[in-house]
Amino acid sequence: RSKRRGRGQITVYSREIAQEMKRATQLEQALRNAIISDSIDVHFQPIVSLANNMVLGFEALARWNDPDLGFVSPAVFVPLAEERGFIDALSETLLRKAAEAALAWPRELFLSFNLSSAQLMDPGTSSSILAILTRAGLDPHRLELEITETAVMSSADTAHRIIADLRAVGVRISLDDFGTGQSSLGRLREFIFDKVKIDRAFVSRMNSDRASEHIIKAVLAMCEGLELRVVAEGIEEHAEAAKLKALGCAMGQGYYFGKPTDSASTLRYLQTHYFDLSSEREIA
Ligand code: C2E
Ligand code: MG
Ligand code: MG
Ligand code: MG
Repeated sequence: RSKRRGRGQITVYSREIAQEMKRATQLEQALRNAIISDSIDVHFQPIVSLANNMVLGFEALARWNDPDLGFVSPAVFVPLAEERGFIDALSETLLRKAAEAALAWPRELFLSFNLSSAQLMDPGTSSSILAILTRAGLDPHRLELEITETAVMSSADTAHRIIADLRAVGVRISLDDFGTGQSSLGRLREFIFDKVKIDRAFVSRMNSDRASEHIIKAVLAMCEGLELRVVAEGIEEHAEAAKLKALGCAMGQGYYFGKPTDSASTLRYLQTHYFDLSSEREIA
């Protein structure tokens, strides 16, 4: 009897595995088509000054709405693109679209763009980014690249070279999702970052959990000493924005200030939320 059940289980498992593999292949094929047909879009989410709620820049976030699969999260398709070797093609189109959109914004605003870890292992990345900026006509000083701790560690020498080359022409580097990766503090000693983005896991728990608040305070004090600018991610409520402002956090990002929207809606957002006070603006 147990033998029969055993065999039955094997059948069930293999059917599940087969279905999973079929789904993965479908997803990969759909992603390949979406990249070829240029149908992956880029949306923009505001990053604001917590002191006065002024918009300082936008983070570009990839959006893929497939006719058959529906909305697929970048947390799913970006890793898949990395795994299957499509990330260069995908990232190049996304940066091109993002840079073109940023040209329509006031010149003081920065564009923040996520780099994947695979790109930090590829020595061609810096020249390909600079070529896209040149072609689009976007000043490298307006670009920030968001990278994660794990990404810098995966291929340290190449990553450091890419970062150094880009910083030399004015591109700034943000450490994304700070507090979630491995070996956070050691990275900050290397002085390769301009900004630190505190992961939203800490922000969302800040008002209910004392530990998260203490961690945020410590990160802010440490970043002040290291002359790193800080962005708090995932601010959804007024109370979170107010607390972070009181703690001295310079910048915030989250649904409370604005969800990611397409480039046309971003321009409308700027019409209502951006006032040209260039002389009074602090440098982000
Ligand atoms: P990330 O870079 O940490 O981006 C922030 C994520 O938090 C985004 O998710 C954003 O939509 C979400 N978010 C922002 N504010 C709030 C909030 O108040 N509450 C909540 N619950 N979520 C908020 P998204 O767009 O799904 O992107 C997920 C991740 O996928 C990104 O995390 C980034 O690692 C990656 N990603 C997105 N676009 C790109 C891209 O163009 N290139 C690369 N390499 N990675 C990308
Ligand atoms: Mg990011
Ligand atoms: Mg993040
Ligand atoms: Mg993230």
